[in-house]
Amino acid sequence: MPRWPDELGRRIIPMTTQTLPITLSESHELEPLAETRGYFLNHSKGFSSEFVRQEMERAVRAGFNLIIFPVYVNGYTLYPSQTSAAAGFAPINPLFKKWNPLAEATEIAHDLGVGLWGLLRLYNFHPRHSIVPHRLLKRFPDWRLAIHPDFKDSSLRRRENYVACPVNRDYRRYCGDLLSELVTSYAIDGIVINMTGYGLRRGSLEESPFCFCDACRHEFSDVTRANMLAKSKTTEGMAQIRKWQGEVSTETLEYLRHRIIKSRRTIRMVCRAQPQWRWNTDDAGPALHTEYCINWADLLGRGIVEELVVDHDEKVVPELFSSRLVSDLVELHHEALVLPQIGINSPEEIASVIAAVRKYAVSGFVAQFDRPLTDEDADFIQREYLSAPAQIAESAPLAAAALLLRLVQQRHEQNDLMHDFMRDFVRLVERAYRERTSLEALELICDNLAGLRDAIRRGRLRDYKIGEDTLRDIGLARRLVRLACFDVRS
Ligand SMILES: [Zn+2]
Repeated sequence: MPRWPDELGRRIIPMTTQTLPITLSESHELEPLAETRGYFLNHSKGFSSEFVRQEMERAVRAGFNLIIFPVYVNGYTLYPSQTSAAAGFAPINPLFKKWNPLAEATEIAHDLGVGLWGLLRLYNFHPRHSIVPHRLLKRFPDWRLAIHPDFKDSSLRRRENYVACPVNRDYRRYCGDLLSELVTSYAIDGIVINMTGYGLRRGSLEESPFCFCDACRHEFSDVTRANMLAKSKTTEGMAQIRKWQGEVSTETLEYLRHRIIKSRRTIRMVCRAQPQWRWNTDDAGPALHTEYCINWADLLGRGIVEELVVDHDEKVVPELFSSRLVSDLVELHHEALVLPQIGINSPEEIASVIAAVRKYAVSGFVAQFDRPLTDEDADFIQREYLSAPAQIAESAPLAAAALLLRLVQQRHEQNDLMHDFMRDFVRLVERAYRERTSLEALELICDNLAGLRDAIRRGRLRDYKIGEDTLRDIGLARRLVRLACFDVRS
């Protein structure tokens, strides 16, 4: 162990004085990158079994390593569900009476050696997401969002037709049952809960006259001992309602996480969100929506949500994309993982996406192409942008962190201090990966990575220059080790 100047040396010594029974590979052959390259498989127009296979094969041929696959859209599952059958509802989306899309997709993903995350649109059944009109809220009208009685004539009332209320306990349990059966029955690696178009929003009653359904009114009066409609008459009362809606949203996600983790401890639970923290900033123009009653930074900080997939549905403008990534990393929790999802119109646009995600501490990206890939597209993307092999960062976060730190080590092999220091880090993280490590050991690695980053920032290495790429890799490694903490903790 080299002598590290100042406080950092003292902090790391207790952890590294043990001799580690591993041999570190000294080879310099090309190691895979720790980079999540998600491919969003669009279901809005329906698909055939042949299409799913072809689309997934092309995505993998292009160099993607993760498929985001729809499993619950517009109230229908894309697998035969016992939960919906038991509720007396269609057990599968009517487009798929003869085959099981999720079973096929998991099998194909396994054959191709890529990851698969199941996407659920739990609350928003807007017709644009599926050619099959939704029926769930017709079958269970109590599960709908309900408008405030003074706003029955508002045009916003149409949301009652396609948005489910997250507060309704029966629907909450139904969602929990779906998640539980999904995680138990299918070999998927992660769950993405899509929260875009969520029903509970901040702002005045005029801006968002929701939700005043029976369930909300009962819950509110149980918790606050006050009448929700009476409260809604005053500004202070509305502030109290919005605050409660935020709390109940947190509670709902906490419950869903509990159901997922209880079924399988190490599965990833990710949410997808619109960047509401950017809505009222300079380049966003006039605010079109009020924010959702969800505090993402808090949810990420508490580990209720492990990572946020952030929608970048705007057109890709290279400079703007970078600055938006920076703003996401600043606004969201400083230790949390962020994965941007970007709409791609032509394969060339991936160039600027790749450049930006490799510059900032995000784990990769999810591409949503506006048309299915052709063989030519796949070959072009692989050749030009994704030729280096890559591992999904979230699947084995400690292995991914070790890859990043090893990269830093190789980059600085000219500098003895940095090189030796990184070698010790790599050993620690690799050992943590191979052996079941305690939460304390992982948290200590996190702390030390933060200490290292701060020491570099404060110029502790004196004349030796350390670039932003190293700070980025150390920052991302730290976020990944923190993700590994959730697996041990939960
Ligand atoms: Zn409600």
